[in-house]
Amino acid sequence: MTAASAPLLSVRDLDVMYLGLTDEQNVKACSDIDLEIHRGEILGIAGESASGKSTLLTAITRLQNPPAVTPKGEVVLYDDRHPEGIDLVQADERQLRAFRWSDISIVMQSAMACLNPVTRLVTQFADTLRAHQPRISRAEIRERTAELLEMVGIAPGAMDKFAHELSGGMRQRALIALALACNPDLIVMDEPTTAVDVVMQRQILTHILRLQKEFGFAVIFVTHDLSLLLEMADRIAIMYAGRIVEIGPARTIADDPQHPYTQGLRNSFPSLREPRRVRHGIPGSPPDLRMLPSGCAFRPRCSEAIERCAAERPELNDLAVSRAACHVRAEERARDEELSTTGAQR
Ligand code: ATP
Ligand code: MG
Repeated sequence: MTAASAPLLSVRDLDVMYLGLTDEQNVKACSDIDLEIHRGEILGIAGESASGKSTLLTAITRLQNPPAVTPKGEVVLYDDRHPEGIDLVQADERQLRAFRWSDISIVMQSAMACLNPVTRLVTQFADTLRAHQPRISRAEIRERTAELLEMVGIAPGAMDKFAHELSGGMRQRALIALALACNPDLIVMDEPTTAVDVVMQRQILTHILRLQKEFGFAVIFVTHDLSLLLEMADRIAIMYAGRIVEIGPARTIADDPQHPYTQGLRNSFPSLREPRRVRHGIPGSPPDLRMLPSGCAFRPRCSEAIERCAAERPELNDLAVSRAACHVRAEERARDEELSTTGAQR
């Protein structure tokens, strides 16, 4: 197995639940998630709002807070110290601190929530650097901070500024620089929202990709914007109502999406390679997680639904290239296979 294909993180059968207050129902925001990320790979996660993308990221990085709980599943990390893997769901806070920043770092959806607005940038970098290199000197901290800021296109002088003095895009880039501070194996990024426009988001990602080529870390990137992922990711997972409904190579998701939901998402975004045409959103809206329809959660919005879709929840099935949770596609594939074997027997 080459270094590029070795698994770095393996999520197995993971559920994440938000526990409701006494008279409220629990919300299962992620269900039966199976996902693998390989060293040096860029994995994109897309899906409409409230599909569970951020919840999954916080569960993977173990940054989840009450009322979120992980009632089942594993998040196994394979690093140099644990080539046989270690389950982060079972790890305690002290163990997790050792993984944070040096193995996995996270760039959250709201940069302002992660940077202290009234602390100078260099002080925040110092905290992270010292956590893993307790004896690092002040001069070394300034030197490393300057180097990290330059990597994301920020002039080193900004290290003496407060986060509230920076623009939204600068803050987001400063967070990425911070995420790179301890040479992690994996950077997990939730899409920057309000503070950053689409052009800036693209610029930030381009930066990340350049650095990724240089340092070889893996990236998990979450966004609503499927077209951004189609350009940048190696593989893409599509989430709907807390489940992965399709996962496969970015090229396949772009050119030959299988799940009707992926097809709908794909058609709602313009592609750089195609001529402009009228785009249609997916009719209807995502279900309330507390009142999921029976069978396939996408069924009420799906133009291809068959009876089985109401009766039975589809599992992720291997299709020609990607894997999708769709009875219609699975049955088509079974028919194709049957035809090709009976054809071969003749
Ligand atoms: P967006 O694209 O808008 O960022 P998302 O895909 O990241 O959405 P999540 O934020 O993971 O979605 O939310 C998934 C579900 O979990 C939603 O129904 C949301 O209401 C619920 N949820 C999220 N955070 C909490 C919380 N702290 N307490 C209760 N429910 C929550
Ligand atoms: Mg989110």
